[in-house]
Amino acid sequence: MVSNTLVETGQVVEEAFKIRQRYFPDEINFYAPGLKSYSIPGFKQKNPNAFLPISVTGAGCALDCDHCNKKILEPMIPLDHREGLFKMCQRLKASGTESVLISGGSKKTGEVPLTKHLGDVKRIKEELGMRVMMHTGVVTDEAMAAALKESGVDGIALDIIGSNETIRQVYHMDATVEDFDKSLALLTKYELSLRPHIILGLHYGKFLGEYHALDMIAQYPIHALVIVILTPMHDTAMFGVEPPPTDEVAAFFKAARVALPQTYVMLGCARPMGEYKKVVDRAAVDAGLNGIAYPAEGIIEHSQSMGLKPLYFENSCSCGC
Ligand code: SF4
Repeated sequence: MVSNTLVETGQVVEEAFKIRQRYFPDEINFYAPGLKSYSIPGFKQKNPNAFLPISVTGAGCALDCDHCNKKILEPMIPLDHREGLFKMCQRLKASGTESVLISGGSKKTGEVPLTKHLGDVKRIKEELGMRVMMHTGVVTDEAMAAALKESGVDGIALDIIGSNETIRQVYHMDATVEDFDKSLALLTKYELSLRPHIILGLHYGKFLGEYHALDMIAQYPIHALVIVILTPMHDTAMFGVEPPPTDEVAAFFKAARVALPQTYVMLGCARPMGEYKKVVDRAAVDAGLNGIAYPAEGIIEHSQSMGLKPLYFENSCSCGC
């Protein structure tokens, strides 16, 4: 039970936080995957290779989304198709990697071309004992959902977009909101462990489909919801756009907690830095979220003042829960 320090310090315990208390132990997960080096007082990476992302398309992508322009692929390790995914993971395992994210650029219809690698994923699971997450994009083909299940993948991450306008104008994708809903339905039908992502402020810094995406996701028995925030990047059509206001972000955190009372809700690694990050990270703790990737300085102490015991993971927040 949260200690009385809250009462003494006069902190108002949000309704959302009380929901967290009802269904989760007084612990909070902090993540520092090896995508970038990270160290704050109380939390330093020991094995930066523990979790690594692989792109099966290298730097290639058919979409050129306005908020990304393929930049998300840059920190990923490009797959050498001559070596193949299994041998690549064998090599990474030898250098201390325990889990991998298999991702890549998308086709025009929003899928990541993963089919031909699923046989290797099965071997990576069975022969190397590594943990495997996959970022699939939309999955509207039943055979693909069945093949993902057969591969033994530990979890599926996919962005859920709740606005057709955003799908058209930001992602330039030949898909609709229904395709994202169908993906959730198909992946659920094959009992895959889902970690859907919602990007706040995706429509040029404005909220547009996020609450609809949350409503869609809440219809399914997902493993964890990962919330990230638009981070306007150089060389993208959104460079210079204002990220969404922190009070709107905080309100969404609470709505997610209320909509998914017994499901892990995480604040993922993509979010603006500096003072903005400090404000939203604190709002995430106060709203009762279960974990934060690369927490801002002072957030561990703030969590402890809320009666939460910090736990540390060198994994991604969608993988380590
Ligand atoms: S599909 Fe993914 S990798 Fe390609 S531009 Fe969009 S967000 Fe970036």
